[in-house]
Amino acid sequence: MTENKPSRGWQGAVLKLFRAGDYQLTVTGREQISTHYLRVSFDAGGLLAGRCVHPTMWIRMWFPDGAKLHQRGYTLVNPDAAADAVDIEFALHDGIASRWAQTARPGDTISATVLGSSFALPRPAPAGYVIVGDTASLPAINSLLDSIDDSPATVFLSAAHDDDRTLPVARDTGVVWVDRGGSGEELVEVVRAAAHNAEDHFGWVASDNRTTRAVARVLRENYRIPRGAIKAQAYWAQSA
Ligand SMILES: Cc1cc2nc3c(=O)[nH]c(=O)nc-3n(C[C@H](O)[C@H](O)[C@H](O)COP(=O)(O)OP(=O)(O)OC[C@H]3O[C@@H](n4cnc5c(N)ncnc54)[C@H](O)[C@@H]3O)c2cc1C
Repeated sequence: MTENKPSRGWQGAVLKLFRAGDYQLTVTGREQISTHYLRVSFDAGGLLAGRCVHPTMWIRMWFPDGAKLHQRGYTLVNPDAAADAVDIEFALHDGIASRWAQTARPGDTISATVLGSSFALPRPAPAGYVIVGDTASLPAINSLLDSIDDSPATVFLSAAHDDDRTLPVARDTGVVWVDRGGSGEELVEVVRAAAHNAEDHFGWVASDNRTTRAVARVLRENYRIPRGAIKAQAYWAQSA
């Protein structure tokens, strides 16, 4: 009898061609950090063994939806190779990955692929950082802040919910939370209003597709940060 395994579709076939590393993660615990933010702890299934983890490093997790598996990017939190353990923090909304996380219990398993994540801190060190994101990119932002020690940094974060502002940020000062109304333009406006000449800074942006594009432009045009000193990546797609 053939087993009806959920399919990864063409994305899975392409990743196989690239010989991407495949692992099985097992849920070991969960912690509701705020009403819309959940940390899930995993046995990493060997994913971290012999691997150099870089700031903002992410993996592709395969979330089941009927007979299909959908790939979504998630950032490594507290990676501990010796303990073979890692956490993933989920900004909750209505989506396949989000729903999986909300029902995940110890013993549940999920596949993960390691391919495509690359980032290195700029060398020589920039005069400072301008970092812009939301709760989906908060895990990446915290890993970036941890890795730049006490380098000057201004962090702009979009809050979609009142208690997002209570989420832990790896900096005590220089953090500006901006309430998200509809499509994220409030964040763009606040970043623009704070503009100054920052041509010797590094810019890092990750939010929804439209906001990321708009903020990256503000960093180039209003902050004068050179294109090559900006890392901008859409972390999720706004619905049309
Ligand atoms: C490199 C990378 C790293 C990432 N790391 C993390 C991480 O550590 N933690 C994390 O929470 N997310 C992270 N994300 C974002 C996450 O992959 C997306 O939010 C993803 O779309 C969630 O999948 P889903 O199946 O829940 O929702 P989808 O099926 O993709 O979308 C369903 C609906 O929800 C909306 N939506 C999707 N994401 C969000 C959101 N964040 N906020 C509000 N509405 C949303 C969509 O517009 C759509 O209407 C990362 C993305 C990338 C590219």
